[in-house]
Amino acid sequence: MKFYLDTEFIESGPSKPIQLISLGMVCEDGREFYAISSEFNPEDASPWVKENVLATLEPATIVKRRSLHEIKMGMMDFIWNTSIHERPQFWGYYCDYDWVVFCQIFGNMMALPKNFPMYCRDLKQWCDDLRNPDLPAQGKGEHNALTDARWNKQAWEFLSKFERSKAFRAAYSIIHLGTLRNGIQVLGPDEIEKIITEEFS
Ligand SMILES: [Mg+2]
Repeated sequence: MKFYLDTEFIESGPSKPIQLISLGMVCEDGREFYAISSEFNPEDASPWVKENVLATLEPATIVKRRSLHEIKMGMMDFIWNTSIHERPQFWGYYCDYDWVVFCQIFGNMMALPKNFPMYCRDLKQWCDDLRNPDLPAQGKGEHNALTDARWNKQAWEFLSKFERSKAFRAAYSIIHLGTLRNGIQVLGPDEIEKIITEEFS
């Protein structure tokens, strides 16, 4: 089961741990989880984070602040609800730091639940591998963890479709050329590689 993850956080360099501000998670089945931490220190935030993240956070009357322990318990419920028999798969976008703050909700990486992978898949890497097609526009709400997590799901769906269409075009070219040359088996690995390279560039 895929879970699309985004966090907002405060990063203050190597002398201080990264602090979680908020976490959004969207499951591939459409369910959503969103939490804002009660444990970060806003004074540590950079001017950019203050302006683009803290200033746009929902007030506590709308989204109650939760301790990291409460966020962990809520998130576990959210994930276990569908994944007792299936390993969760986590996806983020430029997600190295998201993954660190995510793991720290559990204490550290070694404290992750047994069936969790110890890594997060990065949509940006997948996008690079596919030569950076234009991803869907996000519109309003960027830097809100839930809005960003929703966009991650959208980006995954876009890349998945894009990859399939590229693979289809490459396979079609190979078969088409193979037919012209009296059967696909006449193509050697070098020729096939050349066709795929041309098709993908
Ligand atoms: Mg974000």
